[in-house]
Amino acid sequence: MSPRPGKLSFSADGAFIRETRREVEAYLSCESAARRGRLQLYAKSVVAFGLLAASWWVLVLIRPGGLLSVLALAGLCLGTILIGFCVQHDANHGAYFRTRRANHLLGWSTDALLGFSSYAWRVKHNIAHHTYTNVDGYDDDISQTPFVRLMPSQTPRPWYRLQHVYIWPLYSMMIIRWQVGADIAALLRGRIGASPIRTPRRWDLVGIVGGKILFAAWAILAPLLVYPWQVVLLGYLVFTMVTSVVTATTFQLAHCVEEADHFSLAEVAGETREWAEHEVETTVDFCPRNRVLTWFLGGLNYQIEHHLFPRVAHTHYPHIAEIVSRNAARHGVRYTVQPSLRAALRSHHRHLRTLGRNGIAVELEMG
Ligand SMILES: [Zn+2]
Repeated sequence: MSPRPGKLSFSADGAFIRETRREVEAYLSCESAARRGRLQLYAKSVVAFGLLAASWWVLVLIRPGGLLSVLALAGLCLGTILIGFCVQHDANHGAYFRTRRANHLLGWSTDALLGFSSYAWRVKHNIAHHTYTNVDGYDDDISQTPFVRLMPSQTPRPWYRLQHVYIWPLYSMMIIRWQVGADIAALLRGRIGASPIRTPRRWDLVGIVGGKILFAAWAILAPLLVYPWQVVLLGYLVFTMVTSVVTATTFQLAHCVEEADHFSLAEVAGETREWAEHEVETTVDFCPRNRVLTWFLGGLNYQIEHHLFPRVAHTHYPHIAEIVSRNAARHGVRYTVQPSLRAALRSHHRHLRTLGRNGIAVELEMG
């Protein structure tokens, strides 16, 4: 049945995703490959939680002062980023354990350690972003008007001319916004992008309230018992701003670049697009050969593979990328890889500059 005009609809089928899925399933059915991926995921999680706990212990209970305290704060940022990329992201997608309950329980590390609601994150990220990638008004990650213009379909404004400069302070505020209530505001509004979010009840509500209290206790109240408030404020700002910039930039390099497709609802409404092809062509991989970066980013430099297989642990993405890129070439699906982090950052910068200038009158010179 053809979709109604004005309604966004995707087809889950198609030869490209059928063949790709079959090969990925064959790879994952190999017991040794599956076990290796699981062990890597567990080992990384131990490092992430251990680094965060040890750094907090040094900062709050030992208080060495000077360079050691700065190093401990850096460890706290690094541990938190690792939990964000390598633990909560997998768990909230259902990629960490077999059962939904266990995944949600580990995914609660978002509430307790990152300071914002995993319940709201699952709608913002798993539904609004993963289902409607780069569709204006649906994908909340890329619909941030009137602050920045991230897609050609968004109305130009004079201030966007400087967006490639002021976007960095905005990125640094992203997590603070969610920690201090943007997640609660979304719950009260009942919507993220065009995706409805149900009012949380029972254990979901306990998780949200308990998470906020626990985060405030370890990140703010305990430090206030041993440091002056100015030091705690400075430490909190550095901690959240660093984790924010790294998180926002990592996600944006995969979608908010020149090589990724962007759509208004009018451009895609009324037709049934193949969802897998849409995901590949709105997403870009970067630095695939850099194993250190891949380890650190939780495979988020392989976002094409992540978007196609979000319920597969990220430690498998380098192998899955070989399957996806081969099938994309065979089926004429555009598959883009940025060779380096520098190339990805430059593309993001050019995309912001171009969209910031678009729509502003230019003088024509006719010969
Ligand atoms: Zn994801």
